[in-house]
Amino acid sequence: MSSADKRAVFIDRDGTLNAMVYDPDHGVMDSPRRVEQVRVLPGAADFLRGVRGLGYLAVVVTNQPGIAKGSLSVPELDAVNRRLAELLAEAGARWDDLLYCPHHPDGDGGGVAEYVMECECRKPQPGMLYAAAQRHGIDLGRSWMVGDGITDVQAGRRAGCRTILVTRLKVGTIQKFLELEDGEPDAIAPDLPAALEIIRAGDGSADERRGT
Ligand SMILES: [Mg+2]
Ligand SMILES: [Zn+2]
Repeated sequence: MSSADKRAVFIDRDGTLNAMVYDPDHGVMDSPRRVEQVRVLPGAADFLRGVRGLGYLAVVVTNQPGIAKGSLSVPELDAVNRRLAELLAEAGARWDDLLYCPHHPDGDGGGVAEYVMECECRKPQPGMLYAAAQRHGIDLGRSWMVGDGITDVQAGRRAGCRTILVTRLKVGTIQKFLELEDGEPDAIAPDLPAALEIIRAGDGSADERRGT
């Protein structure tokens, strides 16, 4: 195994690269399950191009508990991922790798037995980041985790990465989440272009923030 000399930007999928989809059956926003539901969010292609241009691997890490719950099959998930990759490619962008967690602790009371479990990979756990680091020789301490959820921040921090929460919500609105264990990001960005600028600017401001 070669030394961990690569840097990565780990990126959440749903709500960060692609839009969430309204599920009328359950009255909630959920992951796209069909290819025709896949919409790339503004700035996503530029972000992937940007981080790769800075020399980072772009690694998508996504929880897909629908697999465990039985609401999404692995072939359906693969098709959605392929469609997202295709739309990004049309905009001249790509990721280097994508890892998903198919598990859920209780499967919502049913589900597919082989995937219903407490696992190490479901964010906020850092297992997918560790797996990608192994696979690609990534130095996690020189890497970033970017996503729209506190569990993204938690997974990133637990893996030793710097973290950016992408949200337009006011800090006051999300304060109780930021106060969760490992829930405080190094930076909050309103959108992906702003997140890219934070990464481009490098370590200084992030270290200052963490020091507070
Ligand atoms: Mg998300
Ligand atoms: Zn898992």
